[in-house]
Amino acid sequence: MNYSEAVRAIAANYIRRKREYEQAELDLLASNAEFAESEREKRALLLSEAKGEKTNGEKLKKTLEKNEAIRKKLGLIPPEPRCPICGDTGRTNGKFCDCAVALAVRSNSGELGIPLHSFEEVDFSVYGDEKENYRKLFSQVETICSTYPNNKKRCLVLGGGTGNGKTYLAGCAAKRLLERGLSVMALTAFAANDRFLKYHTCFDGGKAEALEPLLHCSALIIDDLGTESILKNVTLEYLYQVINERNTSGKLTLITTNLTPERLLSRYGERIYSRLFDKSLSFATYLKANDIRKAF
Ligand SMILES: [Zn+2]
Repeated sequence: MNYSEAVRAIAANYIRRKREYEQAELDLLASNAEFAESEREKRALLLSEAKGEKTNGEKLKKTLEKNEAIRKKLGLIPPEPRCPICGDTGRTNGKFCDCAVALAVRSNSGELGIPLHSFEEVDFSVYGDEKENYRKLFSQVETICSTYPNNKKRCLVLGGGTGNGKTYLAGCAAKRLLERGLSVMALTAFAANDRFLKYHTCFDGGKAEALEPLLHCSALIIDDLGTESILKNVTLEYLYQVINERNTSGKLTLITTNLTPERLLSRYGERIYSRLFDKSLSFATYLKANDIRKAF
């Protein structure tokens, strides 16, 4: 599903719910005498008011209240748009609303590529001596995710050895961002590389769908950078494009990696490295607990 299709799906869903409501209203007018009588009374009063005739304000108020109560009793509640930002039009300020981006991202990427976790449920005792450092680190990342875009950080690099909890932390970040209604895409570096290759080699209409969600989602999580192969003319070019465009347009990118900053520099080069470790935009950390999975 592309963005325009997502916009149409969101708008169509709202129209369908409104039609269902209107049909339910018609059905009740035909089948429920109390409701039908209340509607007749209400409409007659509103009509005479609209014509400028002298009306009894108190009587109108009572009639409307009674009508509301009957509707409530019958479960006849007008549908609200699901997205308060765009009112289920799928667009806001001439751009695609985040609800449309989120729907397109979901339909294109299926499930999130990492398991979700809650900041509230982290058991810091598994991090042993590093417990307090982890508590502080999780809290910093939580603050960034809870306040984005109202903070300066746009690029989070979580480095560390295998089993150090960086993907777990990314899962906490993803959940918090999703809870805030932001479009989140999380995939492994391997899957991202696949999309770069598809975009590079595909020449039909489906081309854009491989790359666009990575550029447009509010938060992109690339897990385990460094485990993918470097494909000539593909990996470095599109990785740079994605990170650079996202930094420039103020979107959040979170990367987990086994590699040290030095290894990232030698593998990905100066251009990508400088975007990942931009002094003002980046939050980079290296998780140091021993492999906690060994503890079990
Ligand atoms: Zn919306």
